[in-house]
Amino acid sequence: MTTFNFSLLTGDTGPLVKGTEPDRLHIPIHAHTPILAAGDQVLAGTKIATANQPGEGDLHAPMSGVIKAITPDYMRIAVNGDERADATKPPADLGELKQWLREQGVNVGNLNQASRLIINAVPPEPGITIYDPLLRDYRKTIELGVETIQRIASTSKMNLVAAKGNRANAFANCTVMHVAPTYPNGLDQLVIKAVTKEEVLLGAHHKDAVLLSVRDLYFIGRVMETGRPVTETVMTIGTQNHLVRIGTPVGFLAGEAGATVQPGDRLILGGLMRGMAALNLEQGVNKDTTGLQLVRDDESIKATDSPCLGCGECERHCPARIMPGMLSRCSEFKFFERAEKFHIHSCIECGICSYWCTSQRPILHYIRLAKYELALLRTATSNLPTDTQEETGQQTGESE
Ligand code: SF4
Ligand code: SF4
Repeated sequence: MTTFNFSLLTGDTGPLVKGTEPDRLHIPIHAHTPILAAGDQVLAGTKIATANQPGEGDLHAPMSGVIKAITPDYMRIAVNGDERADATKPPADLGELKQWLREQGVNVGNLNQASRLIINAVPPEPGITIYDPLLRDYRKTIELGVETIQRIASTSKMNLVAAKGNRANAFANCTVMHVAPTYPNGLDQLVIKAVTKEEVLLGAHHKDAVLLSVRDLYFIGRVMETGRPVTETVMTIGTQNHLVRIGTPVGFLAGEAGATVQPGDRLILGGLMRGMAALNLEQGVNKDTTGLQLVRDDESIKATDSPCLGCGECERHCPARIMPGMLSRCSEFKFFERAEKFHIHSCIECGICSYWCTSQRPILHYIRLAKYELALLRTATSNLPTDTQEETGQQTGESE
């Protein structure tokens, strides 16, 4: 088995790097509705799409150019410069601030009233070191982000959670907590649990705490400072951290980093445990992309469709204390509803089960597939008239 370093220690990183600007952008828009059309000219900061979900932020052109194509998945812009749209001022009225942030591209779904702000400064995955330069070099911007959230969510207590051994600058009236510098301790659900001793499901929010990462607060602070929308992401490429325009193609970034991608190699958006392989070299990064990893064809662990041996190795390592092997089998044989009986929604998608699987089964992929199918099923069922829903529920319920 290929050995993997689970350490979340970052050491001292260099400053954020701003690389060469791309000549085209492929902006992922599958969670947004475009408001412009092919042929339209945009400036950096022009709104191009509105979010489909009320808690998600809208999308803006990261650079000026001409929209060349729009598909259900992406908008392609041919860049012709960096001419910027006018900035706007944050509203003085606190009641309007959250909506204004949303219109500037900030995800506001978890900015509810709560007594505690939890700042996640633990690297999300091994090799992702984006929080260190932000905490060191952009403290004032992050403080402005903190103040903004304290006003919106009325929080009175604050914890900064860091991996022991990494940078952990406290803010005013903030208690620093340390967790062991080992994956998966930086995942939001485990950070919330470390502070509150309570568990929340993936995608859910704690009833009395708002969790934001150092990077989230940096972007909120920047929007407040500049009056300009979020059009960049901060991501680790190799050993350096970069400010990258949303929509920059992964092949372009790999080339800038000096890498030549060969047939069979994979470029992973995010970290190696939870990241997703890019579909092609033109796929653009989005505002949540935290890293880019090149996995050579001969280095990767090849997932198989071998049967589950029932060895229990995945269960022994699962931080959610569920049965990944069973969930993978439910998904493999399309018993998606049965997966709910085995607590699929408690899975925090850390990927550790896939790493340890004796049969090298793609367990996390199976689990994500089952969650996706269950979401489709719920949507389809909720769109049916009430009497039909009852009938359908009876028909699709699996026999024990
Ligand atoms: S990805 Fe696997 S190991 Fe991680 S929580 Fe889900 S089932 Fe458990
Ligand atoms: S580690 Fe793999 S083979 Fe073993 S029980 Fe889990 S899924 Fe099955």
